[in-house]
Amino acid sequence: CGIIGYVGNGDGSDALDVLLSGLSGLEYRGYDSAGIALSNGELDVHKREGELSALESVLESADPVSGADAVGIGHTRWSTHGPPSDANAHPHTDADGRVAVVHNGIIENYQSLRSSLAEDGISFESDTDTEVVPHLIASYLEAGLEREGAFRRAVRQLEGSYAIAAVFEGSDTIYAARHESPLVLGIGDDGHYLASDVPAFIEHTDRVIYLEDGEFATLTPETVTVTDHDGTSVETSIETIEWDA
Ligand code: GLU
Repeated sequence: CGIIGYVGNGDGSDALDVLLSGLSGLEYRGYDSAGIALSNGELDVHKREGELSALESVLESADPVSGADAVGIGHTRWSTHGPPSDANAHPHTDADGRVAVVHNGIIENYQSLRSSLAEDGISFESDTDTEVVPHLIASYLEAGLEREGAFRRAVRQLEGSYAIAAVFEGSDTIYAARHESPLVLGIGDDGHYLASDVPAFIEHTDRVIYLEDGEFATLTPETVTVTDHDGTSVETSIETIEWDA
């Protein structure tokens, strides 16, 4: 029931450390499984049912593609569709491992999206509503769209509630969107953050942008761009918050 994302600019913390401490800052929201995806050229996904310590022990022997210039997303799951399990834990990916997605909320129309993807020969690894998202994105990449276009097109098909973040193989950008689930962006000296709630990154920055319903955000090491449902830029204001960590 929590999302964290980090795009480092090479000056700061190791992405994996940011993700894991971010997830522990979201523990109060409750969860049954946890996972991360890192992109540093290649895409690397690790996830486990249970406490954060279960994920951490997998990571100890996994040698993930981390670093101060890696981009990553993490998730703690509070299952709504499909029981807690390794396969149902987020991030979810497409069959070729090009995109990894984390999601909070419920995709109400996932069954019809899932059946039409299945008709196109896509097979599913999980019972979640979320897994339609990476497969939809991959189908639009396949059709020739750029990453951002594919992400937007997929998200615009979703009905229900979502805070979503995606990272791609060969890219240092996080794409995000929200509708009726919280998402806040953090502007740091060492890169950009995104989370379900401020405690996930407050040790790194207190400068935030609250995303509104229907908005999309694109985070790179240098820039943060917020756009509306139709792709028009939205003027944002950065708030400095006071928080007793
Ligand atoms: N509906 C999704 C699932 O069951 C996301 C749940 C959540 O918000 O953690 O996997």
